[in-house]
Formats: sequence, structure tokens, C-alpha cells
Amino acid sequence: MSAVLDAGFFRRWMTAAAAAVDREADRLTDLDSAIGDADHGANMRRGFAAVAAALEAEPQPTPGAVLVFAGRRLISTVGGASGPLYGTLLRRTGKALGDAAEVTPEALAEALGAGVAAVAQLGGATAGDKTMLDALGPGVDALGRGGGFAGAARAAAEGAAATVPMLARKGRASYLGERSIGHQDPGATSAALLFEALVEAAA
Ligand code: ADP
Ligand code: MG
Repeated sequence: MSAVLDAGFFRRWMTAAAAAVDREADRLTDLDSAIGDADHGANMRRGFAAVAAALEAEPQPTPGAVLVFAGRRLISTVGGASGPLYGTLLRRTGKALGDAAEVTPEALAEALGAGVAAVAQLGGATAGDKTMLDALGPGVDALGRGGGFAGAARAAAEGAAATVPMLARKGRASYLGERSIGHQDPGATSAALLFEALVEAAA
């Protein structure tokens, strides 16, 4: 992993995220059709495509500016629950990075921690509620422990897989009660893709 991450890295991260959710959109929608309303793939694809296009037109000078800008785009283009939640994640993380021209992976881990806390506050969810937090939390923790982007991606994917036996307590899936058990959470699955995109951006 490179020791410092510049604005170009963060733009590559967002572009890789757009490609990943585009690639996996059908899977995200299938998961959301089991325990939601079958729009998660479309929501993520629309949101991140808008982010990638906007960053192409207006590149943004610093890591923090890239993420704040991307977060705003997600909020304005995605109507579902995931838009404001992912938008808040990126905006809050970007704000925590401040206006530094380059940041370390350790600083990114800390900033993402603030972003994840903001998602928990906005959505009122906690670990184990079968939401995106169940992948975001383990991913950020692994990064903070020095596991690198690959370690974080692994932890986030394991966190997403671990949502299968959980009972949903937040979002649409919670309306199903016990019937939410046995399905992987779509938002946790897309959250794991964001960590995979970090690996790609660093490659
Ligand atoms: P919607 O539920 O409005 O159709 P999406 O289908 O795009 O939105 O996103 C659903 C995902 O959003 C869920 O799988 C879950 O991970 C996440 N989610 C929903 N509500 C919450 C919440 N209160 N806190 C955290 N994540 C949530
Ligand atoms: Mg949905």
C-alpha cells in the first residue's frame, strides 16, 4: 500500500466503486428483492455513476474535498435509504480529513471511523442490526488495526456474510421480522464493495 494517499487516489476510489456497483448491480438487486424492494442495485448504480461523472467534470483538489463532493452527489441522486446513509458516510469522512493534500491510511481509517459513527447516528442502527454497518464496522476496524486495504476488504466481506443469520432491526427488511433471517443484507454487501474498490484504487 502506498504510504500517502492523494486526491487522485480518492478519485480512483470513487471510480472503482462506480465500476464495482455497476458490475454487481444485479446481485445487489436480487438481495434487495428477497428482503426489501429490489432497488438497491439501481440505487447504487445511479448514485455512483453520478459521482464518477461529476468528479470527471469537477475533479476536486484534496482527498477531503473529493469525499465531501461525492457524498453530496449521492444524497442528491439516490432516493432510497442508502443514498443519505452512504452520502453521510462520505461527507463525514471527507470533513474529518480536512484540507490536507495527502493523507495516510491511518488517517483515512480514523476519518472513516467518524463517517461510520455518523451513519449509525443518522440511521439509529447498531452492530448486529443487519445493515451496512455490519460490513462498514469490521472493514474500518481492520484498517485501523493496520490490516491494509486487502485486510479491510476481507473483514468487510466477512461482515456482510455474517448478516445472513441476523434478524433485521432497521430499514425495510425489519418489516419482515423473522422472515429476514437467512438472507444477506444488500447494504452490507455494497459496503464490502467499497472496500474492494479501495484495493483496486491502490493497485
Ligand atoms: P431502501 O431501503 O430505501 O429501498 P436501499 O435498498 O438502497 O434503500 O438500501 C437498503 C440498505 O440500506 C439495507 O440493506 C441496509 O443495509 C441499509 N439501511 C437501511 N436502513 C438503515 C439504517 N437505519 N441504518 C443503516 N443502514 C440502513
Ligand atoms: Mg431497497
